[in-house]
Amino acid sequence: MTCPEVDANNPQGVLVDQFGRQHVDLRVSVTDRCNLRCTYCMPLDASFMNQQKLLSFDEVTRCVRVASEMGVRTIRLTGGEPLMRPNLRRLVEQLMQVSRIEEVALTTNGLLLADQAAGLAQAGLSRLNVSLDSLDESRFKKIARRSGLQRILEGLEEAGRQGFRSIRINAVSIRGLTEQEIVPLAKFCRERGFRLRFIEFMPLDADDIWSCKHVLTGQEVRRILEMHVGQLKRIESEDSGQPSVDYSYTDGQGIVGFINPVSQPFCDRCDRLRLTADGQFRNCLFSTSDWDARALLRDGGTDKDLGLLLATCVNAKHFSHGIGTKSFQRPLRAMYQIGG
Ligand code: SAM
Ligand code: SF4
Repeated sequence: MTCPEVDANNPQGVLVDQFGRQHVDLRVSVTDRCNLRCTYCMPLDASFMNQQKLLSFDEVTRCVRVASEMGVRTIRLTGGEPLMRPNLRRLVEQLMQVSRIEEVALTTNGLLLADQAAGLAQAGLSRLNVSLDSLDESRFKKIARRSGLQRILEGLEEAGRQGFRSIRINAVSIRGLTEQEIVPLAKFCRERGFRLRFIEFMPLDADDIWSCKHVLTGQEVRRILEMHVGQLKRIESEDSGQPSVDYSYTDGQGIVGFINPVSQPFCDRCDRLRLTADGQFRNCLFSTSDWDARALLRDGGTDKDLGLLLATCVNAKHFSHGIGTKSFQRPLRAMYQIGG
């Protein structure tokens, strides 16, 4: 396979794939460990990667610096549960010092947020996505297979006090499981000024229970919501990089979004790359290959070597994930091992 040359004087555009997509967003997983066991993500008896494989903060920062020299501008920290990685605020500080990085964001289940929100805000974290599928303790437990709803609500309250640029709530929709959560979640978010987004269930669960019939589509979720709040009005997303299809409520109070990777794939405008906690670049959640940055980082690879690896990874990106087609292959890694 040929890979593009990294030209240090003209690094922009190196991360353009064969279909013309420019990549500006890097999702960095900092751990595969988690304090929940969501049915759609992790197995109950999860075993975790050897800690020696985990990239250090300096190794992550080096990858981010190289990626930023090739056009990456935004970083989202994820996992596993990223707040389980000790001293995460120090990584946020380090990444905010990378000159071309414009924004560092975080996706968390919120369990440890109450204690860490202030430190993260001080470190420069600007946006926060908190995953919350249910406001009902027993259904929360059924989905997450652990308790913790109250702690998440406390975390959200504390985060609300910290002045983040945005706080979004992400809720996975699963047929037969989450329908009754739609209206209470919408009300909860509207009252607090949080932007709610419903995400379709993707075939990335470790237990391999996913099938098309479990996918409660964004359109179905919207119809259920509209039966209670009236017709929603389609609006343009403020942020073109976001995959959600956004709607405002008729009274103008609040916005709700639908991320529909299964029923309405947005692969044609994908601008994301991923770095797993064990140091593998990936060009798609559904990629069946990894590009090994850890080996280069630990075996004396140069920044140019890392740049070439990333360019090769981008160059190999498929046009679409192909969910629902005969050729679709599930990746070997489940969501918690990639970083959502
Ligand atoms: N632990 C953190 C959290 O839950 O926010 C960060 C990692 S989690 C893997 C990132 C996001 O992926 C969460 O919003 C979660 O709901 C979502 N997710 C996990 N498995 C999924 C699946 N099979 N389909 C759709 N979304 C999924
Ligand atoms: Fe943990 Fe997030 Fe996966 Fe739930 S979705 S098991 S909180 S990593």
